[in-house]
Amino acid sequence: MKANELASVPVLMYHQVIKNPGSVYDRTPKDFRAELERLAREGYVPVTAAEYSTGKLDIPAGTHPVVLTFDDSTASQLKLGSDGEPVDDCAVGILLDVAKKHPEFRPVATFFVNGEPFSGTGGDKALGWLHKNGFEIGNHTLNHAKLSGLPAAGVQREISANQKAITAHAPGTKVVSMGLPFGIQPDPAGLALSGSSAGVSYKHHGAYLVGSNPAPSPYATSFDPVGIPRIRSAGPDDEDAEFGSSRWLDKLADGTVSRYTSDGDPDRISYPKSSTAELSKKHRDRGRAY
Ligand SMILES: [Zn+2]
Repeated sequence: MKANELASVPVLMYHQVIKNPGSVYDRTPKDFRAELERLAREGYVPVTAAEYSTGKLDIPAGTHPVVLTFDDSTASQLKLGSDGEPVDDCAVGILLDVAKKHPEFRPVATFFVNGEPFSGTGGDKALGWLHKNGFEIGNHTLNHAKLSGLPAAGVQREISANQKAITAHAPGTKVVSMGLPFGIQPDPAGLALSGSSAGVSYKHHGAYLVGSNPAPSPYATSFDPVGIPRIRSAGPDDEDAEFGSSRWLDKLADGTVSRYTSDGDPDRISYPKSSTAELSKKHRDRGRAY
């Protein structure tokens, strides 16, 4: 088993999961299921954005972390039925079903939500369900704001107000991840990670971009919490497929891009000696070269 915990991690980005996709950002339920089945078959184990960005990757030896992220809190992602559980054809319903068939495939994901999330189900019920079931709720601003167009106070208001709404919907939630609307950073970019407004402070361990390549290991010198790249979910022949998930997963599978492979020990960071310079200073005491 060749562990390499300084190699790349795919952070996949989803928007709507619907029968008739309206844009390249959407996938059909069938394609979404096929992508999850592929990930399970290829030894990926989902981790949340929070686990990834804080370097708490506790997955079995020989497996690879993947972060599943969902933007915009649409009904196609999570819809609860009359029994209070996700309906079969929403994204969470499909994820739970795939995980049932593949016991190592943890059903976890990160949802970057806006104000009034998950229409139809409602914020209290939907965010309450996510929180109770080990899914991560992240911030995507209250009004899906283009942060580069706002003054610093406006940026902090958008993020703080949404954090306040999230914790009102799902008390006890700790919001530590931020999905940048349109992938656009505020100025200065660090405002996506920390700030405060109207008595509410926020502190994020990672701010996520839109596109277009695998993310570095959280233990690597190249890891930058202010702009973590994501990969748009896409089929092999979709528009701009070279930046989409099918093609990147091919490259991670065939070794064109080296892929994070776990050593099975969450306290130790294993990597080939030739990668030693890539281990960030912060994690040096946990490093084990071989
Ligand atoms: Zn968005």
